[in-house]
Amino acid sequence: MGEERVKEEALRTIGLFQTLPQLVVFDLDYTLWPFYCECRSKREMPSLYPHAKGIIHALKDKGIDVAIASRSPTADIATTFLNKLGIQSMFVAKEIFSSFTHKTEHFQKIHRRTGVPFNSMLFFDDEDRNIKSVSKMGVTSILVRKGVSLQAFRSGLENFSRSNNPKNKKIEDYFGEKSK
Ligand SMILES: [Mg+2]
Repeated sequence: MGEERVKEEALRTIGLFQTLPQLVVFDLDYTLWPFYCECRSKREMPSLYPHAKGIIHALKDKGIDVAIASRSPTADIATTFLNKLGIQSMFVAKEIFSSFTHKTEHFQKIHRRTGVPFNSMLFFDDEDRNIKSVSKMGVTSILVRKGVSLQAFRSGLENFSRSNNPKNKKIEDYFGEKSK
């Protein structure tokens, strides 16, 4: 599926929900791109997971902000790669630093920078420990297995909608039917 098709599909998915996050936060390594950037050279040309760019563009089109929370120790490589991919300017916050906390510090900083409450954020990450600690802060947090995808995106919005609007039965029923 080409980038434009992914974006169209992501826009259609966003359109299914009345309750949407104000800010969507992505991890980098094994969430937006399929490698640890600390193991790569700045001279290389990186690539994203196939659906990542289309999803980010769809969010921006709908006026939903995007940010990054990464524990990579090589922020310089990460930033170089984001520039090479042409998506550097799309993020309202980029917190990229190694930390002993499982991203709680990253989210405190993102909150301070954007003013968005934790319960209006949706987060995608490939590490269970980050998902556990950040969801305790009130952020809807989704574990991705092979990077962010349209499927993970839909399940993220579904979870967000459910946790912020438990009366939204129609959408729950729709997805309940689909997943049977
Ligand atoms: Mg990761």
